[in-house]
Amino acid sequence: MALIVQKFGGSSVGDAAKIKHVARRVIETQKAGNQVVVVVSAMGDTTDELIDLAQSVAGDPYASAREMDMLLTSGERISMALLAIAINAQGGVSRSFTGSQAGIMTSAKHGDARISEVTPTRIREALDEGNIAIVAGFQGFNRDSKDITTLGRGGSDTTAVALAAALDADVCEIYSDVDGVYTADPRVIPAAHKLESIDIESMLELAAAGAKILHIRAVEYARRHNVDLRVRSTFSTDPGTIVYSTKPAGDNMEEPIVSGVATDKGQAKITVIGIPDQPGKASELFQVVAEADVNIDMIVQNVPTGSDVTDRVSDISFTLPLGDLGRVAGALEAAKPTLGFRQLEQDADIGKLSVVGAGMKTHSGVSATLFKALADAGINIEMISTSEIRISVVTNAKQLDDAARAVHTAFGLDSDTEAVVYAGTGR
Ligand code: ASP
Ligand code: MG
Repeated sequence: MALIVQKFGGSSVGDAAKIKHVARRVIETQKAGNQVVVVVSAMGDTTDELIDLAQSVAGDPYASAREMDMLLTSGERISMALLAIAINAQGGVSRSFTGSQAGIMTSAKHGDARISEVTPTRIREALDEGNIAIVAGFQGFNRDSKDITTLGRGGSDTTAVALAAALDADVCEIYSDVDGVYTADPRVIPAAHKLESIDIESMLELAAAGAKILHIRAVEYARRHNVDLRVRSTFSTDPGTIVYSTKPAGDNMEEPIVSGVATDKGQAKITVIGIPDQPGKASELFQVVAEADVNIDMIVQNVPTGSDVTDRVSDISFTLPLGDLGRVAGALEAAKPTLGFRQLEQDADIGKLSVVGAGMKTHSGVSATLFKALADAGINIEMISTSEIRISVVTNAKQLDDAARAVHTAFGLDSDTEAVVYAGTGR
């Protein structure tokens, strides 16, 4: 008997009809001879609505981080109980469990806890008794504080992968409102086509580059624990996309040069102008940034200018999450006297475009194709960065979607049929 973990996202359990539909699907999976563990997200936009509600009673509700976790975890408890009720009403046997009841232990950090240990004893028992086990996504429990935690927005994917690893599941299926992993976001590029399979390294790069289909920490977890994923739609019978951690035996196919194009509008750019060109200055600068606790991405330093060696200066630009822009700019301004730069520029209107493919390791000419496509489309490149299997460029935010379409076409990824998007607000 196979053990399958199925995760249903918010748009899949968005209303009563959809919950009943998921109940039917899950019962069918069990009837086909499988043990089934289901992880659910909160219904529709519930999590956002709960955050709005908290903001209506406090200017900064996250000052009460523990209470925000108490509040937000209630969204998943609603959907898990409703799904269990629906399954039981349809003749199935089901029981729901919170993250802590499912044995998901985490670090203590509210709003962004990491899974430290998974002991799904009660889930195993429920399965052995013939139940469909439903687990609330995105939440856990810290042993020291004895408090409920959440895993960060979109964390239900991680719950599913962690349970699949701990239960040694045969497959972990991630259900959403699209048929699988596409060569680009079908909402932006309707000509995007679905991938039958993708290696986990490329999936990780795509997720890091802004593809929203899978939560990046879930992909990291899957890679570390060798969990294979299947990404598919709740609203179709399409088999979806396999995201494999180990290449299927007998598969000698060459890796595609480009698997996908991802865009990210959630980034901003800071340029530090006229910083002394002396050893240690970059270190001082990024120390200030690190103390502000942000993840920076691309860094570019231009060639220093100035007539004599002692007063030469250069400019350093870097990208960071848009939400951290004000805080980091403030910290740098405060450190201006010691850093000794001339001026700080902030740019909130940037977009990042990335092309990803495992075949890049062994093929040249990828950057030439990319730059030619952007040049032909009249798009200016502000920054460039590369990894073994990814090339990213920063453009003006307004041009990002056009840039993505041009690049998607240039790499021959366009299909002649329009991608299907079944539901969801994309919120
Ligand atoms: N409900 C949570 C969120 O919206 C977790 C999830 O959907 O995975 O972020
Ligand atoms: Mg959600």
